[in-house]
Amino acid sequence: MQDILINWSPQETRVALVEHGAVQELHVERTLERGLVGNVYLGKVSRVLPGMQSAFIDIGLERTAFLHVADIVAPFTPGSRPTAQAPERDHRNSGAIVPIEKQVFEGQSLLVQVIKDPIGTKGARLSTQISIAGRLLVFLPQDNHVGVSQKIPLDQRESLRKRMQTLIDAAAAADSGGAVPANTGGFILRTNGEDSTDAELAEDIAYLRKTWSRIRDMSMRLPPMSLLHQDLSLLQRVLRDMTSEETQTIRIDSREQFDVLLKFGLEFMPQAAGKLQHYKGERPIFDLYSIDEEIAKALGRRVDLKSGGYLVVDQTEALTTVDVNTGGFVGARNFDDTIFKTNLEAAQAIARQLRLRNLGGIVIVDFIDMARDDHRAQVLAEFRKQLARDRVKTSAGAFSPLGLVEMTRKRTRESLAHMLCEPCAACGGQGIVKTARTAAYDVMREILREARQFTPREFRIVAAPQVIELLLDEESQHLAGLSDFIGKPISLQSEPAMGQGQFDIVLL
Ligand SMILES: [Zn+2]
Repeated sequence: MQDILINWSPQETRVALVEHGAVQELHVERTLERGLVGNVYLGKVSRVLPGMQSAFIDIGLERTAFLHVADIVAPFTPGSRPTAQAPERDHRNSGAIVPIEKQVFEGQSLLVQVIKDPIGTKGARLSTQISIAGRLLVFLPQDNHVGVSQKIPLDQRESLRKRMQTLIDAAAAADSGGAVPANTGGFILRTNGEDSTDAELAEDIAYLRKTWSRIRDMSMRLPPMSLLHQDLSLLQRVLRDMTSEETQTIRIDSREQFDVLLKFGLEFMPQAAGKLQHYKGERPIFDLYSIDEEIAKALGRRVDLKSGGYLVVDQTEALTTVDVNTGGFVGARNFDDTIFKTNLEAAQAIARQLRLRNLGGIVIVDFIDMARDDHRAQVLAEFRKQLARDRVKTSAGAFSPLGLVEMTRKRTRESLAHMLCEPCAACGGQGIVKTARTAAYDVMREILREARQFTPREFRIVAAPQVIELLLDEESQHLAGLSDFIGKPISLQSEPAMGQGQFDIVLL
């Protein structure tokens, strides 16, 4: 059984999924940094790379986005309507591909949709095939097929398709004042549209056509690099994607957003909307399950286990490593047992941390070495069982000869740490900084170097207070010796804003 808690503020929406009294998942959406998948932009081609059959497209973000030739859909030419026997909507598979340099050129304005969020140093990935998700249907304006989700039973598909085609033609004919135009756009019926009435379908068709015409209209009025359409917000996605039969309640601490979300939910996801509650408590909603403390822990390297052991989680660009440690002394008598229990507890804690931190890609777990094969097998079984509870796809291998378990977790959105943190400015993300003495010696070496090049009246060292203090005290003799050697006075200036390893040498 699950509960969903939503902490809303104008700048940020935070969602916690709680199971058995413990937070399992955290989702944060910042108003200024919403995920981009589904966004439609009017992009501007900034570079075409024929060698890579791709192009960089400026969509107004910090990093230019990436468009590969496989994601360029040839513009639809009105004419013959594809038959029902060939419900292939994906032009990528339709034979020879026209080289990218013949399709786009520098400076061109292009309607594009984000299909993959920017991650790390990679820019967003784009497609020129626009798809807009409605309640029951997905609309593909550049397409002309009418399809039905493969998950809908085969015997119902053809009649559903015919019903849809009639409704789509009717809507298009009404818009164009009589005759059915050759290009009405493509529609795919989603699984949840299986039992919908004609009225409901017609409503969704109208909504999607209207949304598309708004996008097209904006693309003609707005300058390049404008955002034309945005997918659902995190709040809305809680109802659409996170709520299941296991969800007991969805509590939100904002009256205003409760009303907005309830209205949205009643229209699109009535079942989920029935679980919505406005949280009126005195305590901040995230205090109910110490969620802020859990977030702080999920950002740290060390995670303490109840048994006394602990995990060390290190996230790098390439992979994540998790090291399992025993806490302090392990008695020789129950050695095997203690280690086995610590590893079992670690298996649970790691699976939970991966979800909480939303770590994706390769993860390598270094369990504490176990002497017994049956212990190893049980730890692995427990680990896989815990991973199976994850909504995101995972797969874990067996123990390697060195006792490591290698696993993967599908990358979805940014990890929690990427979302909330940045490399430490003082250490450049290394986790260590030069000692004050190392910095002091760096400074003195630099003065010696500069004294060979320049002949100022005086050198002035500007550095962090602890470095200056050292130069005034323990290192004062060395500094005086240096001053004698170069024949110039050296003065000191303390700069509290400087990191320990930073310094400046001013020539006076
Ligand atoms: Zn640091």
